[in-house]
Amino acid sequence: MSGGLANVGLGILYEKMKASPDSLFAMLQQIIHSHPALSPRFAGAVMLGKFEAHGLPLGPDSKAISGTGLLLVGDAASLVDPFSGEGIGNAMVSGEIAAGMIRRHSQQ
Ligand SMILES: Cc1cc2nc3c(=O)[nH]c(=O)nc-3n(C[C@H](O)[C@H](O)[C@H](O)COP(=O)(O)OP(=O)(O)OC[C@H]3O[C@@H](n4cnc5c(N)ncnc54)[C@H](O)[C@@H]3O)c2cc1C
Repeated sequence: MSGGLANVGLGILYEKMKASPDSLFAMLQQIIHSHPALSPRFAGAVMLGKFEAHGLPLGPDSKAISGTGLLLVGDAASLVDPFSGEGIGNAMVSGEIAAGMIRRHSQQ
C-alpha cells in the first residue's frame, strides 16, 4: 500500500487451523515477531488496524453448483483460486458464463 503501510495477511487451510492449538492471530504474531526469514521485514512495524479473519471458499469441492432452477457462481460455487486467494475474476467470469447459459436455454 502507499505511504509505507502494508496490509498483512496469513492464509491457512481450515482443517489445519482447526487442528492447531494456536489462534490465527497468535500464528500471525509469531511469524511477525520471530520467524527467521520474515520477522526482520517487520522490524519497527506498528499494527494500526485490527485483526480480522475471513473464510475463503476454495474450489473445487463436492457440492453441486447447479440444479433445477439453481445456478451458483463465484464464492457460492467455491471458485476462489486456492493458489492466489483471488476470487473476483472467477466470480465475474462464472457470472458471465452463467448468464450466457441462462439466455441460451431460455430461448429454446
Ligand atoms: C479479506 C479478503 C480479501 C480478498 N482479496 C481478494 C483480492 O485481492 N483479489 C480477489 O480477486 N479476490 C479477493 N478476495 C475474494 C473475493 O472477495 C471474492 O472471491 C469475491 O468477492 C466473490 O464474489 P461473489 O460475487 O461471488 O461474492 P460476494 O462478493 O460475497 O457477493 C455476494 C453478495 O451477495 C449478497 N447477499 C448474500 N446473501 C444475500 C441474500 N440472501 N439476498 C441478497 N443478497 C445477498 C452479499 O451481501 C454480497 O454483496 C478476498 C476475500 C477476502 C475475504
